[in-house]
Amino acid sequence: MTQRPSVLIVDDRPENLIALEVLLESFDVEIVSASSGEEALAHTLDHEFALVLLDVQMPGMDGYEVAELLRGNKKTKSIPIIFVTARSKTEHHIFRGYELGAVDYMFKPLEPIVFKGKVNVFIELYQQREALRRKTIESDQKLAELEELQQQLEETNEQLLMLSTTDGLTGLYNKRCFEQIFAEEWERASRTQTSLSLIMLDIDHFKLYNDTFGHHLGDDCLKTVAKAISNMQLRELDRIARVGGEEFAIILPDTDQAGAELVAERVRKVIVDLQLPHSEASGRATVTASFGVSSVQPQRGLSSRYLAEAADDALYESKRNNRNCVTFKACMTSWEHV
Ligand SMILES: [Mg+2]
Repeated sequence: MTQRPSVLIVDDRPENLIALEVLLESFDVEIVSASSGEEALAHTLDHEFALVLLDVQMPGMDGYEVAELLRGNKKTKSIPIIFVTARSKTEHHIFRGYELGAVDYMFKPLEPIVFKGKVNVFIELYQQREALRRKTIESDQKLAELEELQQQLEETNEQLLMLSTTDGLTGLYNKRCFEQIFAEEWERASRTQTSLSLIMLDIDHFKLYNDTFGHHLGDDCLKTVAKAISNMQLRELDRIARVGGEEFAIILPDTDQAGAELVAERVRKVIVDLQLPHSEASGRATVTASFGVSSVQPQRGLSSRYLAEAADDALYESKRNNRNCVTFKACMTSWEHV
């Protein structure tokens, strides 16, 4: 929306104002007229002017005073002023005007061609400045919009990641999903009074594997192990998740200690049978994993945390016992605890 530039004309004599209006007819501008210095200043408060044509000689506040006040105000100090004066062209007066920041002088009677030429310069300057200002605002807005979009995109990606149930590398359930399934199965076992088992397994000396072969091959190793476990065709209701860098979990609903230990032992053998060469620094020829198993029949007031902690403890015991083995640890029950 382009606004027409406004020109303020100031003269104490109505006939001079009319003459100025006539001269400005050929311009596409809005004309605001004032018949005194005070009135002129009042207009500058609620208008933005491309140019002020200012009579010098006026009763009360004269043109110089008006100019001085305009220059002293932050909002109006850069409005171009053309003094229109009937006074003699003595240097004294011209200098006074320039000290106040006058942009130009014109002498009455006004010469239409000179007048229009000068006014035209200022209107064009104003329009160029306005166009530049609008473009600056537009690009600022676009930049702000872009930044907002960028932010929205990042938030969406984060949400998607949160909502995703799959571990990107192995295609197994991720940790977040594991926790959800674990909570659901705990509830179900509680309700149906059945056993729930949990296997935690961790690839042995995996840091050495990464250090020796690099993260790229480390990732390949994780994928191979994950695929081997997936291909074992456990029961439909058993769920496998990658819960840490090289740590996996298997949730076994409706399974007691004996059943869970059997599954863990099978998984251990499957990993051994892959015969993936390990780093020499690990002290073992091929990749192996350590296992922790725990089982419980959930009771009222018992937290699923106990089962997870017991399986974790069992896993660390396997690590201490030279790894590549399965350890069972009983889950704490609430009444033992209190
Ligand atoms: Mg006058």
